[in-house]
Amino acid sequence: MTSFSSLGVAEPLCRALAAENYTQPTPIQEKAIPAILAGNDLLGIAQTGTGKTAAFAVPLLQKLAASNVQPGQRGVRALILAPTRELAVQIAQSIKSYSRHLKLRQATVLGGVKINPQIAALRPGVDILIATPGRLLDLLKQNQVHLNAVTTLVVDEADRMLDMGFIRDIRRIVSLTPKARQTMLFSATMPAEVAVLIGDILKNPERVEVAPQATPAELIEQYVHFVNTTAKRDLLVKLLRDPAFARVMVFSRTKHGADRIAGQLVKANLNAEALHGGKSQSARQRALDSFRTGKAPILVATDIAARGIDVSGVTHVINFDLPNVPEDYVHRIGRTARAGATGIAISFCDGGERNQLRDIERKMRFKINVVGETPQETYNPAADTRQDERRFAPKKRRFGQSNQRRRAA
Ligand code: AMP
Repeated sequence: MTSFSSLGVAEPLCRALAAENYTQPTPIQEKAIPAILAGNDLLGIAQTGTGKTAAFAVPLLQKLAASNVQPGQRGVRALILAPTRELAVQIAQSIKSYSRHLKLRQATVLGGVKINPQIAALRPGVDILIATPGRLLDLLKQNQVHLNAVTTLVVDEADRMLDMGFIRDIRRIVSLTPKARQTMLFSATMPAEVAVLIGDILKNPERVEVAPQATPAELIEQYVHFVNTTAKRDLLVKLLRDPAFARVMVFSRTKHGADRIAGQLVKANLNAEALHGGKSQSARQRALDSFRTGKAPILVATDIAARGIDVSGVTHVINFDLPNVPEDYVHRIGRTARAGATGIAISFCDGGERNQLRDIERKMRFKINVVGETPQETYNPAADTRQDERRFAPKKRRFGQSNQRRRAA
């Protein structure tokens, strides 16, 4: 059995990992840690959930601790770029726990919160800076930070950076770092623009590719309800009253929709929080913390806000509406069945969403099971001009079975 110490990880880090209950390196850690310790650039093709944060953070921390260089005023030794605020906070929390036995200064800069505390944190210089691109560029423009002392650069979720329009910002930031640096880039997919970026910023990278722990079709039970738009709300409340729905993420396509759904659930005496990009950073963090601690067992989120979020024990993902992009479906349902657990994903599909469903099924090469309390109640084929009934074999009612278990909440 491979251990962290057999990969060359030093004792204070091994101790911190043991305290996190990381008994054994994950496949990406096994490959990436020795490569990074040896000084190579790294291209990691991996998703959240594979252990990629520790794969880059552990060797990075070890190298920083081993060379006792000072970053200098407003300087940074290792820069980690993340596409979303939530991911940046998550990385910062992981790094804090991995480095608990090391004397390293870290700071996080992200948009949506006050800039002055960030300026103060950067002034003496930091060993590790975790940043979202927009706020970092603001701080660079104001000369509150410089990147001349950067020896290590990590670009996390490069494909998400592209989706969110950050690739130019990344290039600008990278151009401000010294050429003689070690660079690691992670991406779950490889769109052309990311491939070009890789060619420009990595030098002879070691390529480490890990398949997602399991494809969704293997670990996640997936169901679709055909339901008219107006009946979605009642169906949602009905499902959520089932105690088996213990920790649930509900996805909405729009911010407005997320707020509306959360409001309706609260009115129905269900404890729900909304998470979307229109909320302040502190409100987003509060919503996420309530969900994580179980104070609010239901989180209604938009796709962007939910990127990279790692909350364990999500029993169900409900797609209140279907995403336009099939990749987002895969990403959404991946919030359940984390770390090898099983999970259930339920999608609501109204007459106007049949094309999206077809695209998703094509992408997954998998036909999603159809369920419904009674088809008449939840889906009116006569009202659906785009029906394509033959594709779906009638399926046994599944959630109907939980009627006996359903108690008034
Ligand atoms: P990541 O892909 O970095 O977001 O990590 C996904 C989850 O796996 C996080 O909750 C980590 O704390 C956890 N994790 C990472 N590495 C290990 C490991 N070697 N053993 C057990 N859990 C791990």
